[in-house]
Amino acid sequence: MKFEELGLCAELLRAIAEEGYTEPTPVQQQGIPPILRGQDVMAGAQTGTGKTAAFTLPMLQKLKQHANTSVSPARHPVRALIITPTRELAAQVFESIRTYGKYIPLRSSCVYGGVNMDPQTAELRAGVEILVATPGRLLDHVQQRTLNLGQVEILVLDEADRMLDMGFMPDIKRILALLPAKRQSLMFSATFPEDIKRLASQMLNAPVRIQVAPSNAVTDLVTHSAYKIDERRKRDFLERLIRDGDMRQVLVFTRTKISASRLARELQRDGFSCAALHSDKTQQERTQALADFKDGKLQLLVATDIAARGLDVEDLPHVINYELPHNPEDYIHRIGRTGRAGQPGDAISLVARDEEELLASIEKLLKARIAITAVPESERPARHAPSRDGERTERRPRPAAETSRPAPAAETSRPAAPASETRRPAREGQRTTRPRDEVADRQPDATPAELASSAKSARPGGRVKREVPALFLPPVVAKQDS
Ligand code: AMP
Repeated sequence: MKFEELGLCAELLRAIAEEGYTEPTPVQQQGIPPILRGQDVMAGAQTGTGKTAAFTLPMLQKLKQHANTSVSPARHPVRALIITPTRELAAQVFESIRTYGKYIPLRSSCVYGGVNMDPQTAELRAGVEILVATPGRLLDHVQQRTLNLGQVEILVLDEADRMLDMGFMPDIKRILALLPAKRQSLMFSATFPEDIKRLASQMLNAPVRIQVAPSNAVTDLVTHSAYKIDERRKRDFLERLIRDGDMRQVLVFTRTKISASRLARELQRDGFSCAALHSDKTQQERTQALADFKDGKLQLLVATDIAARGLDVEDLPHVINYELPHNPEDYIHRIGRTGRAGQPGDAISLVARDEEELLASIEKLLKARIAITAVPESERPARHAPSRDGERTERRPRPAAETSRPAPAAETSRPAAPASETRRPAREGQRTTRPRDEVADRQPDATPAELASSAKSARPGGRVKREVPALFLPPVVAKQDS
């Protein structure tokens, strides 16, 4: 299918062509026509599917009729409101609006917490047609009377499940109460737990349902692998994995802010260009770290799960889970930073003995086994090198001899906290108190990274092709090294 067949206007088609997209992704094929017709949509689509363009393109087309050059703020009321759970996602959606809307003279703005309100206030006072916002800061502006939502025609709730996870439900309800009852509403969510379905039934009117991938489905483009390794040897192993694999751009996940900072410090000390990204960092530090990572100025970004959601990490080839997340869904979000938009990626997990249950929970959620290689005390880490035939070799069924780990249980209770922790830390973003500006954000991204030894895979839009190096593992270890 071609974008032309979706009924998009010339200005949008031109912007799309300049982005290099040749074909709409499934969520765009299914979402754009009903949105253009004015219907409500409830879309199950995770990041990386092209969902942002799926709502941004028809939204721009519908609002195009209102484009005007008047200086009067009254001629530029907020007509489209996009709410996102995090600052980073808000900034990213805003960027997409600017990219796709560059030939349509509508005004857009982005407001989120953690930064000075004044410049935002000035923009809102001057009038904008499209507003991207995190919930807390949006309500702050409403309270200050710099914002009137009485003329909103289109509402988009992006990453709705995350929004609820982060405790934004009361804010969302307050925002919904400020909007005209007659409007078009679109909800995008990776998963649809009961509370999301309830919210959908309240805010959507006879929605068209779209599901581009089953809930929690993980892109086939991601190669999952794991190494069973002693906790104390993880850092050395990580460094060698990165060096031997010539990994130029790697997003490394830890569970806690403390371990992210510590690991980043140690990696810096060992000569890597590296930064930590977590919610104790100022917004400016977070933005800077992300930008540097995207630009290739930083080889490594060590992040907590604040970075695991929604970010568009274009062509990020490697995600390494230095520590597995307590919540298996966070694994999905972490590795969702790679294997995006048709590009393949590697997701490598370093699994200490007390994390094996976490791995089992992840496998249960994925409904798949992850190849795990035990790394004996004396063993060098696996070496990343191109495979001979350019094909990836990882997603293979694990030979029985490779590990004696039991298959994922049909029912798994919450995994025990690792011995190193006395209690389960609250997930970042899950605050019992005001969940707003401090956490109204997350996500970093990567940039197009060239892999020295890579083969490729086509992007939906037929962009650059690239090969992913296969893991050349040390001789298979027949039993666990515990
Ligand atoms: P999203 O799911 O909105 O975060 O988008 C993921 C990535 O896909 C972004 O980098 C987009 O630039 C890219 N993208 C969106 N639509 C297309 C398309 N039709 N063809 C190729 N890439 C796309």
